[in-house]
Amino acid sequence: MSATATISSTTTYDVVVIGSGIGGLVTATQLAAKGAKVLVLERYLIPGGSGGYFEREGYRFDVGASMIFGFGKKGTTNLLTRALDAVNMKIETITDPVQVHYHLPDNLELKVHRDYEEFLQELIAIFPHEEKGIRGFYGECWKVFNCLNSMELLSLEEPRYLMRVFFQNPLACLGLAKYLPQNVGDIARKHISDPQLLKFIDIECYIWSVVPAAKTPMINAGMVFSDRHYGGINYPQGGVGQIAQKLADGLTKAGGEIKYKARVTKILMENGRAVGVKLADGQEYRAQRIISNATRWDTFDKLLPLEHTPNKEKRWRQRYKKSPSFLSLHLGVDASVLPEGTECHHVLLENWDKMEDSEGTIFVSIPTLLDPSLAPAGHHIIHTFTPSWIVDWQKLSPQEYQAKKETAAEKLIHRLEAIFPKLSAGLDYQEVGTPRTHRRFLGREDGTYGPIPRRKLAGLLGMPFNRTSIPGLYCVGDSTFPGQGLNAVAFSGMSCGHRVGVDLGL
Ligand SMILES: Cc1cc2nc3c(=O)[nH]c(=O)nc-3n(C[C@H](O)[C@H](O)[C@H](O)COP(=O)(O)OP(=O)(O)OC[C@H]3O[C@@H](n4cnc5c(N)ncnc54)[C@H](O)[C@@H]3O)c2cc1C
Repeated sequence: MSATATISSTTTYDVVVIGSGIGGLVTATQLAAKGAKVLVLERYLIPGGSGGYFEREGYRFDVGASMIFGFGKKGTTNLLTRALDAVNMKIETITDPVQVHYHLPDNLELKVHRDYEEFLQELIAIFPHEEKGIRGFYGECWKVFNCLNSMELLSLEEPRYLMRVFFQNPLACLGLAKYLPQNVGDIARKHISDPQLLKFIDIECYIWSVVPAAKTPMINAGMVFSDRHYGGINYPQGGVGQIAQKLADGLTKAGGEIKYKARVTKILMENGRAVGVKLADGQEYRAQRIISNATRWDTFDKLLPLEHTPNKEKRWRQRYKKSPSFLSLHLGVDASVLPEGTECHHVLLENWDKMEDSEGTIFVSIPTLLDPSLAPAGHHIIHTFTPSWIVDWQKLSPQEYQAKKETAAEKLIHRLEAIFPKLSAGLDYQEVGTPRTHRRFLGREDGTYGPIPRRKLAGLLGMPFNRTSIPGLYCVGDSTFPGQGLNAVAFSGMSCGHRVGVDLGL
């Protein structure tokens, strides 16, 4: 134990997990369910990270995620359902009949219905000359999904599991191997030539990968573009924060521990191996395995001494960079603001050239349309966010920061009035979050949404798995394969739990 520790713990754990995002909690619960002695250390007051919540004046706002994949009832890709099951937990969910209502340039107005054929018919009605291409492209996504959905999804770093899966389902494995190095853009152009339809495929990718089709891995697209019609988009009753809360409850019931207000400041190293962590209050915890749910930048630049940054990590950063953060507006509004038939999720863009720009694409979520209990009677939540870089919010006096927030909010509300004309008049509550807010409350460097490729890459092959070059240290969450999104980080958590379990002989 380190001589510098002011307070020291005598308990030794099998596993310490830094952070209780969904990635960290899924890993922790998987390992606790296998009998490991697990401790989760969370710097904030509640679990969930970007899948957390906060309450104000009778409203319960989701911090970030609100379009939730992974709650399907069949197949193997319903990873949130499966993660909860592993610790005997369940969540009631409400099915969203429409994944997203797009409001795009040139009056391209379109809903992605849960029913696949209804969605195709709506898209084909706009691009009748591309019917074959549309069916061909989305059909190829289904091929990827069907392969994924027929196999147990665990660690691709575990050779015996890979062999087992291969012998159980050789065709699915070969199918996936074919798509692993491919990007959506190349596949889309094989089927589709209409430039406007290709732009639509770009925004279909951008709204979850924050990069256009050419930089989006086909494996992820196969999952998203098909599962929305298969398992569907299902909102957790009581808000997104329930997922983390139930996982945390399941963890403690399975014998694990979780400590809040426990900010890890250092990963302790001995003889080149990660052996423990140190908290801001000086407390130290030792474990056989350390798992970081912080972003790669926070893990390798802040929690480890610089001389321990592995070369592999440096090389990875030449291929991937931090995506922007978000400017978020959490609104409470009078019910009269929402026109009859309003859907839960919207995407608004006025100019294709600005899709990837700061404050270009606007995302909207109205979870109270599915779960009215999240707002006072007669009111709704409108959570809206748009990409924003931290550099635009730095070097401001408190007054300048406040004024900039107010101007940005006014601009967003004005743009949203294209779909909700009565918005300004119906405002009841308003709170603005900036990249600084995301950095502060989520502990994510620059408030980033996660890693994005610097340039067009070979599919998913560049994303790191859970092991790191440092013995004893693993990463989990959206800085690891397969990337951002709650169901994706649940996949990462399942894989990490599996790999660490094997390493511990469980
Ligand atoms: C605005 C927004 C909208 C989104 N919308 C969607 C959506 O609709 N659907 C979807 O599926 N996904 C969405 N996402 C993405 C999704 O929320 C994330 O990809 C996912 O939640 C990331 O999970 P994670 O486990 O990787 O990490 P995080 O959620 O970042 O959790 C990491 C946890 O670790 C803790 N931590 C960090 N450092 C330390 C430390 N040193 N010591 C102790 N604790 C630490 C943090 O406090 C945090 O609780 C959205 C994200 C945002 C920001």
